[in-house]
Amino acid sequence: MNMRINNNAVIIDTSHSPFARLKPVPLGDISLDRGFWQFRILMNQSVTIPTQFQLLEKTGRLDNFRRVSGDTRKPYQGNVYNDSDVYKWLEAASWTMIYDHGEQLRSLVDCVIELVIRAQDIDGYLNTYFSLSKIRERWTNLQEKHELYCAGHLIQAAIAHQRVTGDSKLMDVAIRLADHICGMFGSSQVAGTCGHPEIEMALVELFRMTGDMKYLEQAAIFIDRRGHGCLGSREYLLDHIPFRNLDHLTGHAVRALYLCSGATDLVLETGEQQLRATLDLLWTNMVNQKMYITGGVGARHEGEAFGKPYELPNARAYAETCAAIANVMWNWRMLQLEGNPRYADLLEWTLYNAVLPGISLDSKEYFYVNPLVDNGSHRREAWFECACCPPNIARTLAMLPGYMYSLSKEGIWLHLYAKSNAVFELMTGQNVEIEQTTSYPWDGDIALQITGLHPSQSNEDSAIHSAKFSLFLRLPGWLSDQKVDVNINGKPLRHHATPGSYLEIHRNWKKGDIVTLRLPMDVRFIESHPMIVENYDRIAITRGPLVYCLEAVDNPGVLLSQIRINPAVQPEIEFVPGLLGGIVILHLSGGFRSIEAEWDKKLYRIVKVNLPQADEHKIRVISIPYYAWANRKPGAMGIWNLIQ
Ligand SMILES: [Zn+2]
Repeated sequence: MNMRINNNAVIIDTSHSPFARLKPVPLGDISLDRGFWQFRILMNQSVTIPTQFQLLEKTGRLDNFRRVSGDTRKPYQGNVYNDSDVYKWLEAASWTMIYDHGEQLRSLVDCVIELVIRAQDIDGYLNTYFSLSKIRERWTNLQEKHELYCAGHLIQAAIAHQRVTGDSKLMDVAIRLADHICGMFGSSQVAGTCGHPEIEMALVELFRMTGDMKYLEQAAIFIDRRGHGCLGSREYLLDHIPFRNLDHLTGHAVRALYLCSGATDLVLETGEQQLRATLDLLWTNMVNQKMYITGGVGARHEGEAFGKPYELPNARAYAETCAAIANVMWNWRMLQLEGNPRYADLLEWTLYNAVLPGISLDSKEYFYVNPLVDNGSHRREAWFECACCPPNIARTLAMLPGYMYSLSKEGIWLHLYAKSNAVFELMTGQNVEIEQTTSYPWDGDIALQITGLHPSQSNEDSAIHSAKFSLFLRLPGWLSDQKVDVNINGKPLRHHATPGSYLEIHRNWKKGDIVTLRLPMDVRFIESHPMIVENYDRIAITRGPLVYCLEAVDNPGVLLSQIRINPAVQPEIEFVPGLLGGIVILHLSGGFRSIEAEWDKKLYRIVKVNLPQADEHKIRVISIPYYAWANRKPGAMGIWNLIQ
C-alpha cells in the first residue's frame, strides 16, 4: 500500500493564530538541495533515526510499553520519564516521513505506534511507569515524576504523525490522554501543574489542530497555577512567584525555556499584553546576562540550571543540548509573534553553535553537556541513561526546513539561508516558486530566483505573468555595521536596511527575476562583559553565523590555553573540502611563550614590576567551527583565547 504524504504539514501551526505576525510554510513545500543542512537531514534520516530505534529497543524503552500490554514480563526499565524518549523519536520519525517515503521507516513508526496504543488504559491514562503495580501513585508527584511532560511529548508526536500521514491512530491516543488530563486538572479539579513544562506547548498545538478550546484553556491553567505553591513554591521550578511577575530566569534551564515556549504559544492565541511583556523581559535577561556566546544556556551542572548573572564558566559549562533546542523553540515562537529579526538571529546562532555541537559528524553520537573549553576528555556518547538530548536533536533536524521561511499577508520571509527550492502559497492565493543558491554558511553570497508563478495551487500548470508581493530578506545581526549589497536582475538596489533587520523588497515579481545579496563574512574577534571573569583578556572568534574554536589536533606542540591570538591581523580563510565534512578553517596569527620556564612550577609568586617575560614565539594557529570539535582524536579545545 502506498502511503499518502500530506505536504501541508507545518511544524507549528500559527496559520490561524490571531496574534501571529508570521504564518508557517509547510515542510513539504521546501526541498533542500545538496549543502550544509541537507547533508545533516539525510544523515538524520539514514543513520540517527534507525540507530535511535535500536537503542530504544535495546534499553528497554519499548519493552516498557510491552510490559503494560502484557506482551512481556520484564520489569520496568530505566528512569520515570523514559516514555518521552520514545515519543520524541516518534515525532522525529514522523516529520522525517515527509522526506523518506520508504516502507522501512513507515513500518518502524507503525510498530512503535502499535505498542503505544496497546499500553493505554481504558480511561485514557498512559504512562508505562505508573501502570500495573504503581497505579495508585499516578499524579501524586507532579514536581518530580514527569507524567504531564511525557504526555506533552506524546501529543506532539501524534500531531506530527497526523499532519504528515493524515492517519489519526496516534492522535486518537493523544486526545484520549489529553481529555483525561483536562478532566483531572481542569479549573475546578486538582490544582496541579508539571515540574517539567512541555504539556503547555503540546496543548496549545492540540488546540490549533482540533479547534477545541478546552486544550488552550488547560494550557493557560497550567501556566497560571505557577507561583501558587503547586510545586512547593520552588524557585528551581519557577513556582516561587506567578509567571507574569518573573523578571529573570532561574532554575532548570530546559524546563524554564519550555515554559517560556508554551507561554509564547499562549500569547500567539490570546494576545495577552502582560504575558508578552514578561516574555520580553525574560528574553532580554537571558541574552544580556545568562547566555554563552554559543547561544547555549543553563550554565550550572548543579540542577542543570541557570546560574547568577554572568556566571558562565567555560570548562564547567553545562549548556545542555536540550536547553539550546529549547532556546530555538522559544525564539521561533517569538519570531512568529513579532517578526522581530533578533529572534531569527538568535535561532540561527543557537542552531549552528549550540544545537549542532550536540551531534557527531557521523550522526550517531551526542553531547549532553557542551563545555566551551576542554582538556580532551569530554567525548560524545551513543546514548545516555537520561537520553533526552539524542531524540530531541533528531526531531529538531527533522523539523529544520520548517524554520527557514514564513509567510505574512505582505509576502515571503526568509530567515535561514540554505540551498533549496521552495513553493509558497501567498495569502492572495498565488503560488510562487523560489530557488535559493548559496554555499552558506561558508560564504554569504546568496541568489534567489523566481522560478515559477502560478494563479493557485489547484491550477499548477497555468502560469501568471507577474505577482505583487514583498520578499523579506534577513540581514543577520552578526554583520554588525556592514553594508549589504543587493542586486535585482544585475542592478544594484538602493536600500537603507541595516544588519539585524529584514530588507523588504516590494515589487511586481516576474518569473526569472533574480535577487542576489552578499553578506560579508569577515572574521570577528569578540570580547565578553568584564563580569565574566574567566574570559578576561580573552577573545573568541566568529565568522558569519559560526563560532570558532581551537582544537589541539590542528595546533600540535603548544598548550592551547596559552596561545595568544592577534586580532589586528585578519586571518586567512581556507575551505577544506575533505576536513570534518567540508569546513572553512581560519589561519590566525598568534604567539606562544613557555610559562613553565617563567613560573618554575610554582603556583603563586610576589608581583614584580617590570619582570622580564620569556620570549614569545610567533605561531600560526588553525581554528575550526566549534560545532565540529571532538570528531577527531581526543585533545584540548577552547573557544576563548588569550589576546596578544
Ligand atoms: Zn537533554
